[in-house]
Amino acid sequence: MHNPRPGLPEFDYVRPASLSEASRFLAEHQGEARPFMGGTDTFVRMRDGFWKEKYIVDVKRLDGMGDITFDPSTGLTIGAAVNMNRVIDSPEVQEHYPLLAEAAKTVASFQLRSRATIVGNICNASPAGDTIGACIVMGGVLKVHGLDGEREVPLTGFFVGPGKTVLKPGDIVTAIRFPVLPQGHAGRYIKLGRNALSDLAIVGVTAFAYPDDTPSGYRFKLALASVAPVPLVPEKAEEILTGKPITDETIAEAAQAAMDACNPIDDVRGSARYRKYMVRNLTRRAVTDVLNRLQ
Ligand SMILES: Cc1cc2nc3c(=O)[nH]c(=O)nc-3n(C[C@H](O)[C@H](O)[C@H](O)COP(=O)(O)OP(=O)(O)OC[C@H]3O[C@@H](n4cnc5c(N)ncnc54)[C@H](O)[C@@H]3O)c2cc1C
Repeated sequence: MHNPRPGLPEFDYVRPASLSEASRFLAEHQGEARPFMGGTDTFVRMRDGFWKEKYIVDVKRLDGMGDITFDPSTGLTIGAAVNMNRVIDSPEVQEHYPLLAEAAKTVASFQLRSRATIVGNICNASPAGDTIGACIVMGGVLKVHGLDGEREVPLTGFFVGPGKTVLKPGDIVTAIRFPVLPQGHAGRYIKLGRNALSDLAIVGVTAFAYPDDTPSGYRFKLALASVAPVPLVPEKAEEILTGKPITDETIAEAAQAAMDACNPIDDVRGSARYRKYMVRNLTRRAVTDVLNRLQ
């Protein structure tokens, strides 16, 4: 009989002395080794028998992975191993990137957030990841160490399917970097879950805007969670909000465009049809909240 709680399988815990050693090890053991941060996805997937890695590679203590730094001229860098509670508590995040703290606060519980990381949320590449939308709309760029050294990878185009990204064997994300945000920006993340704690989003809507020289007076960015195989940017809805004067009709039109862009599935958390309608309703609400915050 299938045992739904099989317990963790045996694995070797590997702690390389440098990023180069870690990248080499991961590339040499492709398919049987994986880096981890908080382990809140990794150990659950291993316990439930979906992942059968022989080696779990701990890179958390290497080269600035635990640092969070802000420079007023270049922006914010969050090391891959910084847990979500540290992000939420960071005065720089609260002052300059409050949307990130707002999104991180919707992830499960305080206990889980003391392990879970933003970079783990991104690399896990679930379309339901609650912090991914904030990272996309604020122009997050991943710093990656691979076999050929360091490179930067923007989040646009990073996700290729559920659990799949453009990362290559040996790649380790060391940090996520955000540019200095435009003056007067405001954001909002609305998560619809089945309960307040420890549930993934049925639908998540991120809205972000800042004053700009456009027909609406603003540049709008949107991202949707749990409504497509990857985190979704509804570009047409963004264009409507940026390209026309803001009225109730414009907001309704953009919300409809966001709904039309979705391609959700039916699952235990909600039907595809329900998800689509909730995208329309929550986009309208998130955009209205952002406009109120902008003013
Ligand atoms: C009870 C429970 C409730 C949850 N609730 C939510 C929720 O409400 N919202 C939500 O979004 N998520 C939720 N999750 C999922 C999970 O907690 C998040 O996705 C979390 O952010 C993962 O971060 P981590 O540091 O634990 O990742 P890990 O488990 O360490 O890693 C996740 C994946 O990313 C890869 N990875 C990690 N770090 C790197 C790196 N530096 N470079 C390359 N690849 C890397 C790993 O190999 C693995 O594939 C929940 C999980 C549990 C167990």
